Amino acid sequence: MANRQTLSTFHRDEIIKEVSSFLFDLLIIGGGITGAGIALDAASRGMKVALVEKNDFASGTSSKSTKLIHGGLRYLKQFEFGLVHEVGRERAVLHKNAPHIVHAENMLLPIIERGSLGRATTAIGLSVYDWLAGVRFSEWKQMLSKYATRKKEPLLRTDILKGGSIYKEYRTDDARLVFEVLKTAARYGALSLNYCAAEELLYENQKICGAKISDRIGNGRFDIRAKKVINAAGPWVDTLREKDNSKKGKKLHLTKGVHLVVPYEKLPVKQSAYFDVADGRMIFVIPRGRITYIGTTDTTYLEDIDSPAVSKTDVAYLLEAVNFMFPTVHLTVDDITSSWAGLRPLIHEEGKDPSELSRKDEIFVSPSGLISIAGGKLTGYRKMAERAVDMVSVQLAEEDGMDFKNCFTDAIVLGGGDFRDEYAITAFAEKLEKASQPSGITAENIFDLVYRYGRDAELIIQNARKINPDLTREALLTVEMEYCINEEAATNLSDFFVRRTGKLYFERELVKREYDLLKEKIESQLSWNGRQKADYDAAFMKEYESAVSFN
Ligand code: FAD
Repeated sequence: MANRQTLSTFHRDEIIKEVSSFLFDLLIIGGGITGAGIALDAASRGMKVALVEKNDFASGTSSKSTKLIHGGLRYLKQFEFGLVHEVGRERAVLHKNAPHIVHAENMLLPIIERGSLGRATTAIGLSVYDWLAGVRFSEWKQMLSKYATRKKEPLLRTDILKGGSIYKEYRTDDARLVFEVLKTAARYGALSLNYCAAEELLYENQKICGAKISDRIGNGRFDIRAKKVINAAGPWVDTLREKDNSKKGKKLHLTKGVHLVVPYEKLPVKQSAYFDVADGRMIFVIPRGRITYIGTTDTTYLEDIDSPAVSKTDVAYLLEAVNFMFPTVHLTVDDITSSWAGLRPLIHEEGKDPSELSRKDEIFVSPSGLISIAGGKLTGYRKMAERAVDMVSVQLAEEDGMDFKNCFTDAIVLGGGDFRDEYAITAFAEKLEKASQPSGITAENIFDLVYRYGRDAELIIQNARKINPDLTREALLTVEMEYCINEEAATNLSDFFVRRTGKLYFERELVKREYDLLKEKIESQLSWNGRQKADYDAAFMKEYESAVSFN
């Protein structure tokens, strides 16, 4: 088996040929953070790994989260100490291994009259949180007086404010995390294919031995054979368990979570905040560049899993919460510049409301040997992967006498993330900025690239200079798109604008113009026929419009 170390769209046909003619140790179904994490863990231990994703990588829940690497403060209220301990500690590991996409963020927690936490419970709760999460003592939470809280955030309503607290969390870009994990897995030999759906499962002597795959781009069908198969299909985990005739006992409970985006000047909070809502839940407001996003809802979801949408009720709930806590901002639906809706693949617990359901992950092994993993959080993906691959490793040792290394993903720096700390990233971006002057691009453009691609930003800038020595915005954008096709398996402009760059969410006002600039370029690069041009155009416009249409 050739060792392809990239996710290039141009290698797609060769990879399909390879995966259909080789017996793998492990086939992973699902290219969200769970599947990506398992691919990296397994490939780095020496397993031969294939991964298939039916749409684009990260197109499920893993691009629709609150984009926090967090311990989940509210899980303390549910006495989930083990979960807080594990994911809290994972924050530091992810920050170390991918500092370009996992950034420390101060979170303000206002304490209000009749809120879910009083001053004493906040102080104790956050100390326990910091302790469980292994936060350095110098970075532990700070309690604030009412005056100090108002100073930190002048927009907060004051009549019910009693004080507040500042504590440490981390912000990320969920889809970018998936790409960096998948790119790193490719370096260890994992073969990953997007737009390839596992349509049917294959069995030999009633034991699972692979899947029948349909290629949604080339329209072909092929089989992938593997000794072990992991179902990491997120909200679709039960759909695959149904195909395996093993959806018995525990099952998924999907809940929908919605986020809204408004221009920063409409909600100019000085830092992220996490505050109480009238129904007893808590929501975040998170400033990010030129926008602030608000989320999230948590409601049981029984509709089409393939197309969760933002409803008018979701919008009204979030706007009302923000307008109550920040009474001078007066947000309306017309202020919304983008939005997203995702589904949490949680494990059902009888009699519990959506917000009370545990976020712990669980592994189910069916009689046929299909290993399904569900629940969990983006933040805990590495430990989830470790548990799943440990299981596969034991099975392969017992059944085939195979011997694999122990997990060492805590020591694997993710793609582009080779920086000592955040200061090193800033220094790198400043060096690139200095070297790129004079040019048609701004410091902000360079920082954006570094926060997306880490060290690879330098390569993108060098290649853009080759197209146009004046380093224009258009040259940079073209080369960024080419990089995403060559290194990150982008196959169309939705892949680029939604998941590789997040522009549909955070810079939607630029997207249409940039789309027009890139459209012909991608059409000729990927040699699309008339039908493909029309289909991709329609799919992009649908996604572009749906970010601001609410049903
Ligand atoms: P997914 O990302 O959905 O991936 C599963 C993939 O499987 C999909 O891409 C799907 O297309 C693919 N698939 C399905 N069927 C097939 C098939 N037959 N063949 C091939 N592929 C298939 N966690 C945090 O740590 N921090 C947060 O801030 C946070 N916020 C959240 C906010 C919201 C609103 C939601 C919904 C979740 C949030 N989470 C957060 C949780 C986190 O996002 C999820 O736990 C995580 O993304 C789940 O990843 P996954 O890979 O299991 O599922």
